[in-house]
Amino acid sequence: MDDKSKRGKDRYAVIGWPLGHSMSPLIHNASFDALEINDRFIALPLSPSEFEPFMESLPSSNLRGLAITIPYKTEVLNYCSERASEVKAIGAANTISVGEDGGLVAYNTDAGAAGRALKEAGVELRDEKVVVLGAGGAARAICFQLLWQKAGAVTIANRTLSRAESLSEGLQQAFSDADVTAIPLNNDALAEALETARIIVNTTSLGMYPYVDECPVDTGLLKSGMVVFDIIYNPVETKLLRAAREKGSKALPGTDMLVYQAAEQERIWLGVDAPINMMRKALLKELSKAS
Ligand code: NAP
Repeated sequence: MDDKSKRGKDRYAVIGWPLGHSMSPLIHNASFDALEINDRFIALPLSPSEFEPFMESLPSSNLRGLAITIPYKTEVLNYCSERASEVKAIGAANTISVGEDGGLVAYNTDAGAAGRALKEAGVELRDEKVVVLGAGGAARAICFQLLWQKAGAVTIANRTLSRAESLSEGLQQAFSDADVTAIPLNNDALAEALETARIIVNTTSLGMYPYVDECPVDTGLLKSGMVVFDIIYNPVETKLLRAAREKGSKALPGTDMLVYQAAEQERIWLGVDAPINMMRKALLKELSKAS
């Protein structure tokens, strides 16, 4: 098979910079194999100077769908002719579908996937106070989802307080009756917020491989009966989650969210019900090699 015909099967890709060791090709290709879909999902690291020419050539390329990661989740919107309702609210996309006519439609499957991970773990958000650690792209999507699922209050704790404040203002504009607060990511502020909150969602990259000894919260602040959801998926059990489990809290890793956001991408691109268990199994097998 020559290179060009091989390339014809590369219908889906993840773009980002730096892309590192993305798990997306592994998860999607495990699903494509199980569903006997004769397409491949590839990793496409794109430097900032490559991004614009790539996006301009996308409508006439072989690609039918994109997964988007840091730093392009907002910038891709400039090239999309349509935005799904969640993208209009959140202001960022992690998924693009390329229509037959070359039109690009933007979606955000991170938000719903986080909600699903909590729901399937039996966590009811209605009227709950949630402390979200971090105020980056993932935090933004998750905060919208928490409020769509009727969380009672959201406290955003971030190293750069101005970023938490700006996210908090955006949420208050979108949900006029929402109780949203911004605090610095430090022990005193977190201790106060955790006096009344039972659910913590970590969206910072603290504790992510290879910096596995980092933890966004002083573990002394964790109590039994809490729910701690860490969206980091490598390692599967972060230092934060280990401490939560040892305290008798529910500890939820980011692996399910990663699989659910990928499954929803396949529903968008291909209209299929992705084999979630198989995708999770492939992911966990790969991650177990890394630890
Ligand atoms: P991002 O937009 O770059 O935001 C990173 C966040 O981490 C910011 O709040 C940043 O604080 C904080 N942070 C980074 N280094 C820090 C440090 N040394 N001390 C304190 N805070 C620090 O990234 P993102 O897209 O939101 O992704 C964040 C994490 O979520 C990554 O680990 C990513 O892999 C994970 N993720 C998982 C899934 C999933 O499906 N499981 C999906 C998306 C993302 P500042 O604002 O102060 O810089």
